[in-house]
This record gives sequence, C-alpha cells and structure tokens, in this order.
Amino acid sequence: MEFVFRILRSDPQGEPPPAFRDYRYATDEKKSVLEALMEIRDEQDPTLAFRYSCREAVCGSCAVAIDGRPGLACRTMLQSLGTPRVLLEPLPGFEVQKDLVVNMEPFFEAYRKVEPFISPGGAPPEKGCRIEEREMDRVYPFINCILCGCCHSACPVVSRDERYLGPAALAKLYRFLADPRDRRPLDRWSPVSTETGAWGCHKVFRCNEVCPKEVRPADGIAALRRRLVVEKFLRFFRLRR
Ligand code: SF4
Repeated sequence: MEFVFRILRSDPQGEPPPAFRDYRYATDEKKSVLEALMEIRDEQDPTLAFRYSCREAVCGSCAVAIDGRPGLACRTMLQSLGTPRVLLEPLPGFEVQKDLVVNMEPFFEAYRKVEPFISPGGAPPEKGCRIEEREMDRVYPFINCILCGCCHSACPVVSRDERYLGPAALAKLYRFLADPRDRRPLDRWSPVSTETGAWGCHKVFRCNEVCPKEVRPADGIAALRRRLVVEKFLRFFRLRR
C-alpha cells in the first residue's frame, strides 16, 4: 500500500527554516510508524533524524506526534491510522533539536525534582521489608511508566507554565509515596504541594488519553492530592497533642 508521510523537517542550527516534506513510500500496512521511518531513512533520505532504541515500547524514546497526537512510533501500526496520509511532527511543547528529535531535558528535570526513588527515612530495616499484596496494588498502576514524555507533551498546563512538574513526574511521586517502604518526611513533599505541583492539575485528562502504557497519570495526581490532605491533617493533630 502506498503511504504519504508528511514530516516536519527542521534544523535549528542551520538553514532552511522548518518545512513539511512529503515522502511517498509503499510498504506493508502491518508495519509500525517507526519501521516506516527507518525504511524512508535507509532508502530515501539518510538526513532524516528521529530517535529510537528498543523498538518494543519499553524505552520510550521514539515518542512523536502522529497525526497531531503524541504516541510511540514503534507501537503505532500504520493500519491503525485509517489513512494513507500520515502526519509526523516532533512532540509539541519541547524544543526541537532536529526533525523529530526534541530536547527532553525539561521533562527529566521535573522528574528529578520529585526524587523518584524509595526514601526509607533513616537506615533501611536489617531484615528487609514485608509488603502485602494489597499495598502493592496501589503502586502497580504507576510502575509501567516508561518516561516517553507523551503525557507531558499533551498536558495543557505544561504548555502554559513551564514550572509545572507535569503528569509523569507527579504520578511517579505518588508511586513512591504509596509504597510502604517509602517514609520520606512531609517537609520533603512541600515542593509538590503547590500550584506548580499537585495542585496545578486542571483535570483535563489528556495525559490519561495519550499514555501508550495505560498508566493514567491524572489518577495518580488525584491520589497524590488526597495523600497530601490526609498527611497535613495527621500532622496538625499530632502537633496539637
Ligand atoms: Fe509516557 Fe505514560 Fe509515563 Fe506519561 S505516564 S511518560 S505518557 S508512559
């Protein structure tokens, strides 16, 4: 089947200015967008830049806007698009480095700010930590995040306020706070109990819609808010005693 891939080409370091370029290419519609991109690069245009690694929705590096929607090129099958004309652009909201390659650093900077690791709040227990299955049920829905940045790119709050930590970072924070091994003190949460953190979400739910791993980051942010309120109440009553 013949497809027309309309790709936004740009090189901020050089000339000419950004422009769409059409690539006519006949390929199997059972292939993925990433496979088509690789074939176009190999057979038509070796200067075409895009990022990928694992090719199986694990590394998250091939995220691009496909027909205007953030998604993984490796996981999007051509036949699922329902049209032979495919529009490919870099992830919206990120600085373009070349063609479909964007600078992910602001996304990872926000991610680092939530300290995405288990904080035992002191020396770890000598004999390890026993965890009940039902406790991990709260954590599992958020473990699958592969840090592709699709939710960050689709979030209207991120696009208006670059200080907002974004859905992936906040959902990842909830993943650790919900983990019984994490005992970080409430003071360490204060950076996220703000309008640029958990309280900045406007519940548009675009993050839930676009996430290729069905993580539902907005649900994590809602749970994080509940947790913040409960912790504040508990702290208030402890202080009054
Ligand atoms: Fe990607 Fe989903 Fe993680 Fe957001 S929550 S970074 S969309 S895997």
